[in-house]
Amino acid sequence: MNLTLALILLTVALWLFWQADKKRHQAGLPGGRVIYTDTGGWGKVHKPLYDRQLRLTGKPDYLVRRGEQVIPVEVKSGKAPPAPYDSHIYQLASYCLLVERSMGKRPPYGIIHYENRDFAVDYTPELEESLLEILDEMRRDERRPEVGCSHQSMARCRGCGYRQICNQRLA
Ligand code: SF4
Repeated sequence: MNLTLALILLTVALWLFWQADKKRHQAGLPGGRVIYTDTGGWGKVHKPLYDRQLRLTGKPDYLVRRGEQVIPVEVKSGKAPPAPYDSHIYQLASYCLLVERSMGKRPPYGIIHYENRDFAVDYTPELEESLLEILDEMRRDERRPEVGCSHQSMARCRGCGYRQICNQRLA
């Protein structure tokens, strides 16, 4: 690879990182730090976690014990994006919330494990508040007879498990 091409690729990569970070910052979401993890201490989760008050259940792929802390891990197939997708961040946040409510220990962060990279995402009070707002919104939507599509992303519809039965899919 010649130097010019390498410089162009580096500039594009930096621009992508900057864009992803800017979007996340606007949404008030934590960005996610790249970390190096030793998967040896990861314990498989066999039973879903449940919170009766929120009527929320979920099963992280692993729980990692670090001293007194319990850290949820979500495994995603495929290569890592420049920064974790918002949907992955919220899924992880819901596991952090479930760990806190069912085990009485608030995880300071959770881990998203992609094929080639791991991100630590801080479980901040702002992220928790934003998650609770989304859950509230979902509860309200559950009572509505029809709910409109909330995005314009064809890629999101292409990867959605409901696309075969959804009459609002974009792709
Ligand atoms: S297929 Fe339907 S439910 Fe799935 S992401 Fe698209 S609009 Fe949403």
